[in-house]
Amino acid sequence: MKTIGMIGGMSWESSSVYYQIINREVQKRLGGVHSAKSLMYSVDFGEMEKLQSTGLWREAGQELADVCSMLARGGADFVMLCCNTMHLVFDEMEKSGVRLLHIADPLGDAIRRDGFGTVGLIGTRYTMEDGRVLSDRLAKKFGIEVLTPDAEDRATLHRIIYEELARGNFRDESRDVCASIMGKLVRRGAQGVILGCTEFPILLKAEHASVPLYDTATLHALSAVDLALS
Ligand code: GLU
Repeated sequence: MKTIGMIGGMSWESSSVYYQIINREVQKRLGGVHSAKSLMYSVDFGEMEKLQSTGLWREAGQELADVCSMLARGGADFVMLCCNTMHLVFDEMEKSGVRLLHIADPLGDAIRRDGFGTVGLIGTRYTMEDGRVLSDRLAKKFGIEVLTPDAEDRATLHRIIYEELARGNFRDESRDVCASIMGKLVRRGAQGVILGCTEFPILLKAEHASVPLYDTATLHALSAVDLALS
């Protein structure tokens, strides 16, 4: 079994989701009391959020590249970033030379498997507005078109993520707001909706949308198990 390196803490609420999915899946596949060999480096999200909101993406990327190297030195065979937003600096992280598992790849595979070409995307403002996070890769590598909410809804989603979800606050009222925003994307032609924020699977389930939901955290975590056991 390969050792999985995880960069977590963005936020730690979602890192715990990754840790559970990965270990449950390894136990399911190997049986007995098997569990995943893994290392997690969990950042201080307070520091990372400051770099995001002040636009210091290069600095953030260099910091995450250093974390990749640390995880590799600690024995990780490959590294995954347990967060959509920071994939914005994926190119910077690749400079570490460490093998990385991009969050958009298992996502693109899942959407193509279902035969869809147009999907909606909800996530942080960065994820919805900057193609470098998910949309460019989905378009180029998988031929998938991404629809994003209007400016007002993007601001609402961003606020819910940073002021509630990343602080461990999962409210029914916000669940309803997210469901309504997903409904608007479906009316505009989305055949599925990407849960492009790794905290969303704690808040949103299949029953909150009329189309399939593509949960990036779960797809990413399961693809890490595939790679670890391959
Ligand atoms: N975990 C979230 C994501 O998947 C948001 C937190 C962040 O901005 O890093 O994008």
